[in-house]
Amino acid sequence: MTASIKTAAVIGAGSMGSGIAAQFANAGIPVLLLDVAAKDGPRSAAAQGGIERQLKAGGFMHPSRAALVTPGNTADDLHRLAEAGWIVEAVVEDLAIKRDLFARVDAARRPGSVVSSNTSTIPLGKLIEGQSAAFARDFAITHFFNPPRVMQLLEVVAGPATAPETTATVSEAGTGLLGKTVLPCRDTPGFVANRIGCFWIAMAIIEAMRAGLTVEEADAVGSLPFKIPPIGAFGVLDLIGVDLVPHVWGSLQGLLPASDLIWHYDLTADPLVQTMISQNLLGRKSGSGFYRVNRGGARKTRDILDLATCTYRPEQKVQLAALDDAGRDLRKLCQHDSQAGRFAWRMLSRLVIYAATVAPEIADDAAGVDLGMRLGYGWGEGPFQIADRVGAAWIAERLLAEGEAVPPMLAKAAQDGGFYAGGLATPALPLAAARRGVVLENASAALIDIGDGVACLEHRTKMNVFDDKVFDVLGAALAEIPRNFRAMVIGSDHPRAFSAGADLSWFLVRAKAGDWAGLEAFLIAGQERFLAMKYAPFPVVGAAFGLALGGGCEVLLHCREVVAHAELNIGLPEVSVGLIPGWGGCTQLLARWARKPGAMRGPIAPAMEVFPLIFRATVSSSALEAVDCGTLSPAGPIVMNRARVLAAAKARALALVGTPAPAPEVLSLAGPSGKAALMTMVRGQSELGQMTETDAVMAEALATVLTGGSSGDPVTLLTEQQVCALEREAVRSVAHRPSTIARIEHMLATGKPLRN
Ligand code: NAD
Repeated sequence: MTASIKTAAVIGAGSMGSGIAAQFANAGIPVLLLDVAAKDGPRSAAAQGGIERQLKAGGFMHPSRAALVTPGNTADDLHRLAEAGWIVEAVVEDLAIKRDLFARVDAARRPGSVVSSNTSTIPLGKLIEGQSAAFARDFAITHFFNPPRVMQLLEVVAGPATAPETTATVSEAGTGLLGKTVLPCRDTPGFVANRIGCFWIAMAIIEAMRAGLTVEEADAVGSLPFKIPPIGAFGVLDLIGVDLVPHVWGSLQGLLPASDLIWHYDLTADPLVQTMISQNLLGRKSGSGFYRVNRGGARKTRDILDLATCTYRPEQKVQLAALDDAGRDLRKLCQHDSQAGRFAWRMLSRLVIYAATVAPEIADDAAGVDLGMRLGYGWGEGPFQIADRVGAAWIAERLLAEGEAVPPMLAKAAQDGGFYAGGLATPALPLAAARRGVVLENASAALIDIGDGVACLEHRTKMNVFDDKVFDVLGAALAEIPRNFRAMVIGSDHPRAFSAGADLSWFLVRAKAGDWAGLEAFLIAGQERFLAMKYAPFPVVGAAFGLALGGGCEVLLHCREVVAHAELNIGLPEVSVGLIPGWGGCTQLLARWARKPGAMRGPIAPAMEVFPLIFRATVSSSALEAVDCGTLSPAGPIVMNRARVLAAAKARALALVGTPAPAPEVLSLAGPSGKAALMTMVRGQSELGQMTETDAVMAEALATVLTGGSSGDPVTLLTEQQVCALEREAVRSVAHRPSTIARIEHMLATGKPLRN
């Protein structure tokens, strides 16, 4: 199945097509990207332009991946479709254009290749009308979301003629190769996410106008209390483009009967929307929509469109008693006797009524609808989860009391005690699914038997931070594995973080108290265990995903191998909290660069690479970028689907059983002259006044470690333990400083670095 997709083709190099092509390239799949031939100039300029836009917009996980995308045009290069196992059509939303293209694609493609359309609204039945039987068998709809690299959802629609192998191929390739979560959908207008999402946008905007709320008030009430991203419905329409209203909403409404509730909120006929389109107030693409960002001044500010006059005024801080009184309690907000409270109730009740009315037609169950909204629109909860949070019975009773009809699905949920009265039936997360039993545990970590002689070290702390109890479990695990297991992996089911590093609040208490002995013991605990792990007689494989910062990066630097999710954010940003990596991060990164293929050699060369990485608190935006930084070895596999990382790590760990542990490393560091060279790297910044006093202290402490300390010299080889001792010394020299304490406190309070 997936094995058959060795090359792909995408037709249409607009925002979606070029983004889908980039995602194939991110997965290492060569892809042909076709658009219409240019009348003058280079014939494939449109496709080339698509590649360039993706390079700018961050669609590629690494710039080098753009080389996997071959630009072409449909006049000269259609025959090359025969090379592709999967052809994705992403041209304009126009049935006649798509049909004409399909006939030409069918003539050019190789037998057995799969073809899919990225249409948002056109039913599959209409798309394949008039095409060959073989085409119908090999055809499905694969609906990606914008931007294709980021959005997790892939809706897949099969028609009655679609062969099961076709659905299986695009579903498996969508999941395994492209890393998406596939939601099988029926052939209904807008499928799942846009059916609910387009209704929500139209309803929220028109209800806000009717209620007389401002844009910023409506988006404040309609977002966080619902666990919807703060950008809100107005902000989302700005992002999509107001000019798409006639096309997307028009097409959707055209396909839906007049009885569909979306017709109550006819955005296409709204006078304000029409004026905005005629005045080129299209949202982000034209610079002004419901919001207008002013970048001129020292600080970015926003203007807001007045919904009554279609003119701009400065954004105002939202001050609503309803939000102050109710906070995030949505039921309380809906009961608030105010304009905002009544608006919240309208939003909630319309959303739940619509979802409960259409769900039986568009999805197998409530969970399918909720999944679509979480992964396609980035909502924290889908409409049925929101309803359960507020109380399905309470919503139904209030509707009845207000003389409104209650859709049967809501009435049933009210009777059953919620849409999820039997629990939320989500598939088990990877570690939970692999769990055979708990070998060791305390409040901060556990060692989990995941079968076949492999155990997994699982963090259980907030953001998977390292505290002393995690080290207790790691120490015990290193003794336990040789007795009863063959290999260890490190990973968890945390939604966001492999590990965000050291427990800073723990650190802060000791730094403030001047408890250097406690801090040093904490550093030694990490350094000793990580080195023991590196040289263990059994393999330890990291299952890395999400954030791997500071200590999270350091533990991975000591693993025999790392299996990384493609979207890994890894780095050593300790400087941003006024610290220096102290669990072997400096040491291992120097050692990595000393043996990195193609890197410069000599005692100062590794330090010249490592110094800016750590000093600038560099965090990779992908696993491929981490390989460039040396924080990830090129040897380990990169996995596109987050849910498959743990299983891949387990497989690698088993494959490494019996291979020898690495030989102990020694480092040749440059000494004081090398340190002077490193400091010249920041001199320019200092002369421009871009370095704070704390930055200068950090640069000095870091440069000292990376060059072997005051008595270092390139001839005397240092052990890893000796360089680790320098790391501890550097941490000690900065940990007590008020500026470090202020940086840590600020990070803990805001999650952002302080420039002091
Ligand atoms: P777009 O307008 O940005 O790009 C469409 C591209 O198709 C253009 O580059 C155009 O030159 C090209 N094209 C038109 N006719 C062609 C032909 N006959 N042969 C080859 N190329 C041709 O559109 P988009 O936003 O990328 O949308 C593409 C498809 O994806 C549509 O079906 C749309 O409904 C769907 N979609 C869009 C989004 C979104 O958010 N933009 C999301 C999901 C699905």
